[in-house]
Amino acid sequence: MSESSDISEIRTAVRQLCAQYGEDYWLELDRTRGYPTEFVDELNRSGFLTVLIPEAYGGAGLGVYEASIIMEEVCRSGAHAGACHAQMYVMGSVLRHGSEAQKQQYLPKIAAGELRLQSFGVTEPTTGTDTTSLKTTARRDGDDYVINGQKVWISRIQHSDLMVLLARTTPKDQVKKKTDGLSAFLIHVGEAEGKGLEIRPIESMINHHSCELFFDDLRVPKDSLLGTEGAGFKVILDGMNAERILIAAECVGDGRYFIDKASHYAKERIVFDRPIGQNQGVQFPIARSYAEVEAAWLMVEKAARMFDAGEPCGAEANMAKMLASEASWRAGDVCMQTHGGFAFAKEYHIERKFRETRLYQIAPISTNLILSFIGEHVLGMPRSF
Ligand SMILES: Cc1cc2nc3c(=O)[nH]c(=O)nc-3n(C[C@H](O)[C@H](O)[C@H](O)COP(=O)(O)OP(=O)(O)OC[C@H]3O[C@@H](n4cnc5c(N)ncnc54)[C@H](O)[C@@H]3O)c2cc1C
Repeated sequence: MSESSDISEIRTAVRQLCAQYGEDYWLELDRTRGYPTEFVDELNRSGFLTVLIPEAYGGAGLGVYEASIIMEEVCRSGAHAGACHAQMYVMGSVLRHGSEAQKQQYLPKIAAGELRLQSFGVTEPTTGTDTTSLKTTARRDGDDYVINGQKVWISRIQHSDLMVLLARTTPKDQVKKKTDGLSAFLIHVGEAEGKGLEIRPIESMINHHSCELFFDDLRVPKDSLLGTEGAGFKVILDGMNAERILIAAECVGDGRYFIDKASHYAKERIVFDRPIGQNQGVQFPIARSYAEVEAAWLMVEKAARMFDAGEPCGAEANMAKMLASEASWRAGDVCMQTHGGFAFAKEYHIERKFRETRLYQIAPISTNLILSFIGEHVLGMPRSF
């Protein structure tokens, strides 16, 4: 199916922008653990990171489908979208659950690229995927909430003005449903750091700017609350489908990047007096990977269209993320194998992308938890935990 001219225009514009930030730019950032400030600023200035913000608040008012095309192109270019993708979707918590005053205060500035909202704090070291057991608390005290606890793997916080934080406001044993009693807050990172919030970077396998956070009696004004007190799980959950679809699109971009590289190299590399791609043992894994990535894209498209039509799309968003993250990983593996020893040379860029795309079978949700969702919510089998 051919794409509409609007979509082709978006693709071309993103591709041209990304072409100015070649693979050496990303390699150097990976080496130095640097942040792609110029790249993110330019994506922001061009309006690509704010396409999901409605026109009334200064954004382009486009859908997750168009956003998916943007992230797919970013990844296909060899870039690492993890540095910037959250600016696109974290604002959904403000858009869907913020008061009109909060929307007016934040969304136009986010749309103009003046405010960065690209950090969200959910995961904790001792509770992991069991989100409703998280231990960070927010206690109401006069006109403030007082926050105590710890978070882990909170990405981009050092490159963000705001963070959406999930904390417990009512103990789990005092609520009817374990998802009740959690609340979401919009935290001004600059104001909080050093006054009850400590941020410690984590050294990790990829250049993802993730940190540990320590909250020690951090006071935030009561109007930091997003939505109603105790209903924060929904604030976070609502944004998750968009996040999963966009990350799935990124994985498709990674997959297509690997297949482009592998098929090109297979045509060029001569061993035993013929291109290695002439051997079916080299050619078929690339062809199979191509089929897998393209099939995953169909699920991304389906999920995005359903999201944009306002239809429930939890199953499709989850399946898209699972299928695309597995397909991109296999494409990465095939690309490594096709390049032989050169795959290990950093200047070929493949090993960096290989490390980066591996993340998406674990974050933002791991494959087992997706399988569990499908087993329980789609196929009606008993919950396993
Ligand atoms: C680079 C990076 C960036 C991240 N950025 C953010 C961020 O910005 N904000 C944020 O909040 N979080 C972030 N995360 C955290 C990420 O969302 C979690 O790592 C992920 O959800 C998995 O949680 P966990 O690591 O605690 O694994 P665990 O919950 O400890 O699970 C470990 C393994 O056990 C499996 N498992 C657990 N329970 C079950 C079960 N009942 N049945 C079957 N299998 C099970 C899981 O599938 C997983 O494979 C990031 C993580 C990384 C690595």
